[in-house]
Amino acid sequence: MRTLYWMTHDLRLADNPALRLAAQSSELAIVTVVNPDWFTEGRYGLAPMGERRWQFLQQSLADLSDSLARRGHVLHLFKGDPVTVLAELIEQGQFQRVVTSRQFGSDEAAQIAVLDRRLPDVTFSAIDTYTLFNLSGLPMPVSDIPETYSRFRRKAEKMTVEEPRGMPARLPAAIEFDRACTVLGAQNTDPDRSQRLVGGETAARAHAESYFSGELPLSYKLVRNELDGWDNSSKFSAWLNSGCLSVRRLVDLLSEYEQRWERNDSTYWLYIELLWREYFQWLALKIGKKLFLKNGNKAAQVSGRFDEGAFSAWCGGETRYPLVNACMKQLSATGYLSNRGRQIAASCLINELEGDWRYGAAWFERQLIDYDVAANWGNWQYLAGVGADPRGGRHFNLAKQTEIYDADGRYRSRWLD
Ligand SMILES: Cc1cc2nc3c(=O)[nH]c(=O)nc-3n(C[C@H](O)[C@H](O)[C@H](O)COP(=O)(O)OP(=O)(O)OC[C@H]3O[C@@H](n4cnc5c(N)ncnc54)[C@H](O)[C@@H]3O)c2cc1C
Repeated sequence: MRTLYWMTHDLRLADNPALRLAAQSSELAIVTVVNPDWFTEGRYGLAPMGERRWQFLQQSLADLSDSLARRGHVLHLFKGDPVTVLAELIEQGQFQRVVTSRQFGSDEAAQIAVLDRRLPDVTFSAIDTYTLFNLSGLPMPVSDIPETYSRFRRKAEKMTVEEPRGMPARLPAAIEFDRACTVLGAQNTDPDRSQRLVGGETAARAHAESYFSGELPLSYKLVRNELDGWDNSSKFSAWLNSGCLSVRRLVDLLSEYEQRWERNDSTYWLYIELLWREYFQWLALKIGKKLFLKNGNKAAQVSGRFDEGAFSAWCGGETRYPLVNACMKQLSATGYLSNRGRQIAASCLINELEGDWRYGAAWFERQLIDYDVAANWGNWQYLAGVGADPRGGRHFNLAKQTEIYDADGRYRSRWLD
């Protein structure tokens, strides 16, 4: 069988069920597509792919390309609209099967559906490589994913996560194309080198080894709310969301760690946070395009509106709120912001500036190295009171947040001076 494996947010060889399936072929082409829309102004006047996320993605692709080359394979990179590019490749290359990973964003999932309809003789398999559970192994059918996280968590916590597996022992013969582009590596130009967010499965593995080699997981819950500091949260998000690290592998490392060191509230809480990630994925799959609607799933109207001046002041860290400004400067400078910082910045746009939350979500999409469609838009909806929050939105008191999380002003002076 001739198989085309379309790689998206599954940029790894280890514990990759899509690659394992694709490897069961006589000939295989491994392809990824860079969509020019990523770099074109979209609905909110912003191009979705910012510089830092693009750099991380290029690093991830370069690392993957090297690993495949060592196994006699090529990562073929194409530029263009994925549906057009892939339809052409599949027809010209007479592929019988296309393997890819399940997509949780409605636009991305639609691309696979369009290809499937357009090419009825080709078998399409969208595999779960991105989540802890498979669609068929969820604690409830997708249509019954609850409206609140706690109900999902109560059931999901009792489920067993499938063990991760290694990479396929061998890959089938490689199919060549002559017009693919070369994968270019990107240098780490991060001004804050301490963040160490470098794309690729190799860097992900090194980070996991380092994180689980000491006591950090034992105090995770005590420090995860801090505004800054590499060690204060796990920093796995960018590697998880590009697929450089499998979330099942991460959970496996966590349980090994608990056996070797200790299981405590903090190690348990890391798993609970991964269940948040999991919840947002399946919720996104359930609600589809509603993830991007101003009123979300709710009948009630939310009032935020777009004001160009206020929005650009927020983006640039030039508001009347120094703590928010520090967060926004950190985000622009590094492509990362702590969960606390994201909540504070989002709450300010929604409540103090009375902005339309979707513009904020679009700005985060552009800026965050760890951008994930379901987690980003889902968290924004939650804070705006149109998502999975039974309390109907969150308003963070900025003076109080400053007092609790930056009483000595160290965070503000770090990012504002
Ligand atoms: C407005 C807003 C936007 C966000 N956008 C994103 C996004 O685009 N991508 C993203 O991965 N996370 C997003 N988050 C969630 C969270 O802020 C990040 O996952 C976390 O800060 C990443 O750092 P970490 O890996 O050190 O997290 P840790 O605290 O170490 O958490 C471990 C893992 O749990 C998951 N996780 C933790 N908190 C959440 C959460 N609230 N929702 C979903 N998953 C979570 C992540 O996969 C994370 O890597 C957003 C939160 C807010 C409030």
